[in-house]
Amino acid sequence: MIKVTVWNEYIEENMYEHVANVYPDGIHTSIKNFLSKNEDIKVRCVTLSMPDQGLSEEILNDTDVLIWWGHQAHEEVTDENAQRVKRHVLNGMGFIPLHSAHYCKVLRLLLGTSMCLRWKHGEKEKLICVNPSHPIAEGITEPIFLEQEEMYGEYFDIPKPDDIIFLGWFSNQEVFRSGCTFIRGWGKIFYFQPGHEEYPIYYIPEIQRIITNAVRWAAPVNKRNSDYDNEEVK
Ligand code: ZN
Repeated sequence: MIKVTVWNEYIEENMYEHVANVYPDGIHTSIKNFLSKNEDIKVRCVTLSMPDQGLSEEILNDTDVLIWWGHQAHEEVTDENAQRVKRHVLNGMGFIPLHSAHYCKVLRLLLGTSMCLRWKHGEKEKLICVNPSHPIAEGITEPIFLEQEEMYGEYFDIPKPDDIIFLGWFSNQEVFRSGCTFIRGWGKIFYFQPGHEEYPIYYIPEIQRIITNAVRWAAPVNKRNSDYDNEEVK
């Protein structure tokens, strides 16, 4: 059983009616709903307003894969909590930052670059698989057309990914590395661009399939029980 925690800052769904109309119970609940249909995946949701911002040692110890959606409140996540998540990723927990979580503290800590990009609302996106043999692409053989999505454009200031699984092409002629993997420590990271809060992206079956595939891929093969340190060999 893969234990997934979906973390959502859960602000825009409460702040804007048009976002609440798309995700009445929050983006996290929509993600939980489709992941929970899989017998090998068990999902819990946490949000920024919970004790320890939903990121306690107890919760992270009980998490194989952490999915993260954030936008407005990246700086409200405490440094202590961001460092705790980073430590768990280095020790083997999978991490899947979605959409505007490209700029979350945890991903910036793990990857070390500015993570900046260019953006524009309301473009069409064609999501193209450029790595069909990767486990995250399982079952995704055709391009996915998103009628409305927030354009994210290059240059996207990330370190060189281990794999690029999806490229996004947008109707304003921009392109983007929309699905990228990284390994940090023992942990696997998949960044996935689709999922702007104003558009019903997480209801699209192919998007659900990619995130489900990513959960299975990012689940730890091995976890470390303690932080890695230099060790003298006797
Ligand atoms: Zn957005």
